[in-house]
Amino acid sequence: MLGLMQDWPLLCHRIIEHAAEVHGTQEVITRSVEGPIHRTNYRQIRDRALKVSQRLDRDGIKLGDRVATIAWNTWRHLEAWYGIMGIGAICHTVNPRLFPEQIAWIINHAEDRVVMTDLTFIPILEKIADKLPTVERYIVFTDKAHMPQTTLKNAVAYEDWIAEADGDFKWKTFDENTAAAMCYTSGTTGDPKGVLYSHRSNVLHALMANSGDSLGANAADTMLPVVPLFHANSWGIAFSAPSMGTKLVFPGAKLDGASVYELLDTEKVTHTAGVPTVWLMLLNHMSANSLKLPHLRMVVCGGSAMPRSMIQSFLDLGVAVRHAWGMTEMSPIGTLAALKPPFAELKGEARLDILQTQGYPPFGVQMKITDDAGKDLPWDGKTFGRLKVSGPAVSKAYFRLDADILDEDGYFDTGDVATIDAHGYMRITDRSKDVIKSGGEWISSIDLENLAVGHPAVAEAAVIGVYHPKWDERPLLIIQLKQGQSATREDILKFMDGKIAKWWMPDDVAFVDGIPHTATGKILKTALRDQFKAYSFPNAAA
Ligand code: ADP
Repeated sequence: MLGLMQDWPLLCHRIIEHAAEVHGTQEVITRSVEGPIHRTNYRQIRDRALKVSQRLDRDGIKLGDRVATIAWNTWRHLEAWYGIMGIGAICHTVNPRLFPEQIAWIINHAEDRVVMTDLTFIPILEKIADKLPTVERYIVFTDKAHMPQTTLKNAVAYEDWIAEADGDFKWKTFDENTAAAMCYTSGTTGDPKGVLYSHRSNVLHALMANSGDSLGANAADTMLPVVPLFHANSWGIAFSAPSMGTKLVFPGAKLDGASVYELLDTEKVTHTAGVPTVWLMLLNHMSANSLKLPHLRMVVCGGSAMPRSMIQSFLDLGVAVRHAWGMTEMSPIGTLAALKPPFAELKGEARLDILQTQGYPPFGVQMKITDDAGKDLPWDGKTFGRLKVSGPAVSKAYFRLDADILDEDGYFDTGDVATIDAHGYMRITDRSKDVIKSGGEWISSIDLENLAVGHPAVAEAAVIGVYHPKWDERPLLIIQLKQGQSATREDILKFMDGKIAKWWMPDDVAFVDGIPHTATGKILKTALRDQFKAYSFPNAAA
């Protein structure tokens, strides 16, 4: 027997429609790319998003066609998201920080028909435009007065383009499983992979993000997403904020500490979200100028592990911290470290211990950890294994890639290695390609690195697995010393001795002048593995 409830497809544009009806005068504020602060509200955003739909429709963009955006967080970009999705076209957010060849590869793979972009990115696009055969026109998020001369095909200023629409247009309706948006993973190994969100997955993900224990904002709050709209579905904020009527503040092109601070302060922002590098810039700016943020209540931080010292710095400023883990394939929220019983009352280091975990999943994300053979491992907070996830906003395949990415129970392997405790708190201990497999047992490279950097002479430490004839792999500790400091192999090993299991101890220590990093500041282990390709352990004959 079926239930007797209405057939109400979960479509993304219903969110902006709701925002316009119920929270119509709630503000959306932007530091515009042209410079001045711009103010609008949800009703105007809905009206102009409808014009985007109407114009795209008139240009012949149809259900399933891809429209790319390469743009900063601004009100126009938000309008474009809803306008594109509102006719069943797919909003393809492209990360402008990628190499131009990668941008071209991604646009060609997606076969984008239209590219919407900011003034900032015109020079990059002009360089690759002749390699983008599917793109029919470029729409620049600006007005006539700021529109530059450009060689981009059929280029038009966004304001001129939507001015040709009267807004007398209705959103289209279609099945809620229709694709709504796509976002390519950055592809540190192999080609980038296209993640394809559906209307249903985005709406359900917004509901997950809306819980007080998720992003933590409500209708009376103000959210500043530093996380870009082009990164991992904007952590769901482009849907979550309008669905609740949360006031939005967009930082545009300026993400430095001083600019972010200024907006947080003048707009009395209560909630903000971004990666650790952004918060480091903000905290440095604040401490150098003895600044405070009396209105800020919550910083959501994810993308890579949040250092303990950063958590403490925000707590010292009277700001709560929510460490989050997720990935593009998960829309992207996986877990968030809200404090629930029995941890809510914890103080001092014990409180930091919980805040530093990656947290527990909201309803809608299921997790498990397994060994290499796929056998479930216990949630004891100690045993670590491959972290796998399932849920209605988790990928089941990549765009135009013929590969089965789920296990037999329908779980997606995140590529992360983690522990989970009895309360569901997850802690990332490694990437699965970095974990050291010694005699069938796993050693966490991150735990060893964290321990080694505690030595006063060590600036940075990286651990890689190196071939060992008896154990398959053993840890090699690679150290960059602080300038003017010295320490020997024995000093370092002695420092670590007794603080970890004996069999976790690195077999050797190598000293280097510099440890290589990725563009996002993660240690580039592929380069280190290459550098130490010919290395063999002194004890390898044993
Ligand atoms: P990219 O496309 O840049 O790889 P993702 O956002 O999809 O972007 O990257 C997801 C990965 O980032 C996760 O699988 C995990 O390894 C890492 N990550 C995300 N959040 C955290 C966190 N809070 N702590 C540690 N690692 C994290």
